[in-house]
Amino acid sequence: MDNSDYDSLVVGSGFSAYCADAFLKQLDTGRHKVISPKDHLLASQNKYHHHFTFNRLLAPKAKSVGSSSWKVPGVRLVDRVTLGGNMNIWGGYIDLDLVDFRYLDVLSGMTPIKVTSDLHGIDSNRNLGVLTNDDGTIFNGGTALNSNLINEYVTRMELLGDKTIKLFSRYYDQHSTYQASVIFLCLGVVQLLELLSRSNLLRSGDRIKIHEHSYQLAYGTQIQESILSDCDTYIRYKFPIAVGRRLGSRRLDYGMLNRGPYVVSQLFQKTLQSVELVYQQDEKCFSTVSESKVPRNFGSSIHYFGVEINSLDINTFFQERGLNVFSFGHGSISPGRGGPISNYIINDIGKHFSL
Ligand SMILES: Cc1cc2nc3c(=O)[nH]c(=O)nc-3n(C[C@H](O)[C@H](O)[C@H](O)COP(=O)(O)OP(=O)(O)OC[C@H]3O[C@@H](n4cnc5c(N)ncnc54)[C@H](O)[C@@H]3O)c2cc1C
Repeated sequence: MDNSDYDSLVVGSGFSAYCADAFLKQLDTGRHKVISPKDHLLASQNKYHHHFTFNRLLAPKAKSVGSSSWKVPGVRLVDRVTLGGNMNIWGGYIDLDLVDFRYLDVLSGMTPIKVTSDLHGIDSNRNLGVLTNDDGTIFNGGTALNSNLINEYVTRMELLGDKTIKLFSRYYDQHSTYQASVIFLCLGVVQLLELLSRSNLLRSGDRIKIHEHSYQLAYGTQIQESILSDCDTYIRYKFPIAVGRRLGSRRLDYGMLNRGPYVVSQLFQKTLQSVELVYQQDEKCFSTVSESKVPRNFGSSIHYFGVEINSLDINTFFQERGLNVFSFGHGSISPGRGGPISNYIINDIGKHFSL
């Protein structure tokens, strides 16, 4: 085994990569590394996708990059190519009734604080927690991956004759390859599809579906009972926390500032909606299917999930091609309830490694 051969490789450095790395360490399954760029600039020869770039004033900046074109008007996807991925700007919410605590125990480094009993200024109809770092700020496990990180952007993957997978990656203009018998792709929806496109795993006419629970932001102190009863989950904020969250603050304790009524509400509804894209291989282009209606504001929940290709979920898609590749993260789960998805991501990864 030379330096570029591993038993497994994790691609990505967001929440799902943090979880996969922790399980691999716990199980001691052999030599593994995490490959992910610390900065989108490493991949800067790609195109910038301005409509997928999503930043918050007080959080580290990132951009969406890629080699495909995306013609998806009315669809809001978030793509942050950076160490930690969305963890740099997320809320850290987790549904404590739905997460399997055996798995949470493996993920040392993140502590859930209960929303309704331990946090002032946030309220919810569900048993929610916020995952925190040791210093009490909202959890970001990106830097914890540093010690096991290859700071490169994965450009392509290829199946070799002996069933191992070869990954091609880039650090600015410097190119490398790595081999492993199993690959864990912990990419967001946009980068997962970009990688499939560059790896020639998609054909013209392939149909791709993504789902989400409908979502709405509401302002004011009173919300009609009928609106709340349409929600699986609502989260209500007092003014200082609402502003802090909006700016991307990682702080949770607003002390004496946290007075007054709840004025902003995130409403995660029961209704499930989907968007369908079609891929054109010659142009390397993803576009919305013209005859199917794009649901209004699709993606505004930023908790969309479950990539399907020609009606196959993403992991069945890899399995059918004989690839020992597993996708984790928001593109691979199918939540039964609107609200946080971190609990579904943890359960999915935990279930995979407990087998
Ligand atoms: C503002 C915001 C708030 C949110 N709040 C919550 C919340 O409170 N609770 C909740 O459950 N969910 C929340 N979410 C949803 C959240 O995105 C997911 O729960 C979780 O962060 C998803 O993690 P992930 O690992 O699937 O993806 P990502 O966080 O997108 O991570 C993908 C990683 O892959 C890396 N990468 C991309 N391309 C490549 C490549 N080619 N090669 C190598 N690496 C690559 C990226 O740099 C990144 O590190 C929020 C999302 C946003 C945007």
